[in-house]
Amino acid sequence: MSARKLKVATCSLAGCFGCHMSFLDMDERIVALIDHIEFDRSPLTDIKQVSDCDIGLIEGGLCNEENVHVLEAFRKHCKILVAVGACAINGGVPALRNHYTVQECLEESYLNGLGVVDPQIPADPALPALLPKVIPIHSLVSVDYFLPGCPPPADAFV
Ligand code: SF4
Repeated sequence: MSARKLKVATCSLAGCFGCHMSFLDMDERIVALIDHIEFDRSPLTDIKQVSDCDIGLIEGGLCNEENVHVLEAFRKHCKILVAVGACAINGGVPALRNHYTVQECLEESYLNGLGVVDPQIPADPALPALLPKVIPIHSLVSVDYFLPGCPPPADAFV
């Protein structure tokens, strides 16, 4: 009888999807991995809601309330959680906004920035509220492993 395959899921929060692109840079080595793992929610499937998994890889930090809900749900479903890349580990590029208030960021982006047309700050209640600061995922949930880099190279994922 063959061994049970490990179930692996990935998720993206406040990141650029570059870590996922590096994950996909494993290229044909992913085919060899399929003997040992199966993918749940990931760039290789069209699964929208994660189910119980052995390993969860998470890219990006927390910049808004939706990120918080997604991370909490993801953590509950993953036996082992891996923070992937600088944004998940320390906030990364999005955390550059931490030098400013949320209001200052919104005004620069939507009112005063170069090339802004019809200046107005988005106020649709469906938009997730921004957190006061961008924070790493270990600020909210326990993290089992850290895979550093911006992005981590494909070899590291393998
Ligand atoms: S760590 Fe780098 S590559 Fe990964 S999401 Fe952040 S900015 Fe993008």
